[in-house]
Amino acid sequence: MLYSIGQDRSSFFPPVKIPIYLSGNFGELRSDHFHSGIDIKTQGVAGHHVFSVEEGYVSRIKVQANGYGKSIYITHPNGYTSVYGHLNRYRDDIDAYVNKMQYKQRSHMVDLYLDRLTFPMEKGEFIAYSGNTGSSSGPHLHFELRSTNNQHPVNALQFNFDIKDQVAPRFYTIFIYPLDKKGQVNGKVEKFSSKLVKDKGIYTIPYGTEIRASGTLGMSVEVFDYLDGASNRCGIYTLEMYVDNKLSYSHTMDEFAFSETRYINAHTDYEANITLGVKAHRLHRLPNDKLRIYNKGTKNSPLVFNEARPYHIRIVASDVAGNSSVLEFEVKGNAAPIPLPDPAKGFITTMSYDRVNAFKEGPVQVEIPVNTLYQDLDFSFLSSPPANGSLTPFYHIATPEVPVHKSYTLTIQSPPLDPLLHNKQLLITYNDAHEIESAGGEFKNSAVVAKLWNFGQFAIALDTIAPKITPLWKRGADLSGIKDLRITILDNLSGIGKYEGYIDNQWALFEYDPKNDLLHYWFDEKRIAQGSVHELELYVTDKKGNINLLHTTFNW
Ligand SMILES: [Zn+2]
Repeated sequence: MLYSIGQDRSSFFPPVKIPIYLSGNFGELRSDHFHSGIDIKTQGVAGHHVFSVEEGYVSRIKVQANGYGKSIYITHPNGYTSVYGHLNRYRDDIDAYVNKMQYKQRSHMVDLYLDRLTFPMEKGEFIAYSGNTGSSSGPHLHFELRSTNNQHPVNALQFNFDIKDQVAPRFYTIFIYPLDKKGQVNGKVEKFSSKLVKDKGIYTIPYGTEIRASGTLGMSVEVFDYLDGASNRCGIYTLEMYVDNKLSYSHTMDEFAFSETRYINAHTDYEANITLGVKAHRLHRLPNDKLRIYNKGTKNSPLVFNEARPYHIRIVASDVAGNSSVLEFEVKGNAAPIPLPDPAKGFITTMSYDRVNAFKEGPVQVEIPVNTLYQDLDFSFLSSPPANGSLTPFYHIATPEVPVHKSYTLTIQSPPLDPLLHNKQLLITYNDAHEIESAGGEFKNSAVVAKLWNFGQFAIALDTIAPKITPLWKRGADLSGIKDLRITILDNLSGIGKYEGYIDNQWALFEYDPKNDLLHYWFDEKRIAQGSVHELELYVTDKKGNINLLHTTFNW
């Protein structure tokens, strides 16, 4: 199915009045999720008018510090809901409504469901200004279409928005790796990888590269699409693999459920992502990958090279506009693999993905719920000496290259401590830059217990230091004519837990912008009297209950 314009597809009004270029598209591979909309470039600035793409009504308004920041949902009679994210500001009447609800709930973050009478919408009606709020790293409009009945995001590029794409997907890297004990690539059990080159219009492996294979092997391929007028890497729409001209794998990026989006860690080669930062699509489906994008009628199973003959591999990637690219190469099958010595095994036990798994050694306990793993795991456990201020050794729970679909529970017994410090304990781990960061966790029954979303190294540490609060003005400064108060808030380890600001003893709405470590208060002459001295009290608490207070004044 290609670019179906009209017919059952609705004809939408464009959400912005500038030419539409994309920095991201539907199904693009992101961290722990598939991108659910399209990211529309806004010429590097905030403040572009955003319009309702169809008649309907505002059904939901959500304000978050992360995620979509300020967003608005419009439900249309044609069965779709449109979502607009990272907005700077709503139009005045909607903004006043949201502000009222934020003061009522005493919270920056609100999630409001509205009836069809509050803000009915015409097709093409102005709704908000584009921006950069939430988890957005530059001004753009996140635009999303969902099926109203199940809230599944659908591929917005299949509708009539004027978005040009004449650029075919580009292949970059292929990975081939054993999936069973007999698997070998070029006589080795290690993952094979090769950069891909383009020759006479077709992608292939570089001249002279040989691939000899035996046993059951997995493959994954790094491939991206590009759209006209932008250099951003976008996601492909379909991927197919043919072995000796027989279709063995295929997927189509039409629709998914938000509850499925984390299966991206099964769909992609998680190890290549963690170790090399490469996002590659697997060309087989893992046993516990329940994504709906795989086409029925293809097996999507790993390849078995058990005959001494060449196997012809052909991989086709396409975009929604119908541009496609082909990758072709040959794999020489090896009937009898070279016997290799059993590699030294650090693993302790094999865990089945479809069972509950538990592990206990000394002060450490691991509980992994059923269907947390995507495939069976040779579980490993090690420990290394305390480091970077940890109170315990670092415990290595499996390895970071193994993804989990759900959280698992890690319990580490506390060392002897002053009871006043019990609740200041948390788990620490290393981030990608090998710096210490919090992995969360709470003190419970003489241990620290944490729900974790990845494997790796963990140890107990203490956070006894309150957040740092730095106002960006001097006490008593004259701020008349200025639009907002700005205060930097930073925590050393556990992270910002909550904050509360009062101006002249009245609760005041401070907006939290975590990516810039900033709190904003937008001056509002309806709430504070202009031309006088004001008193500000701001409490900021980290996730371990360490609290700091700023008490200062300003003129406005
Ligand atoms: Zn987006």
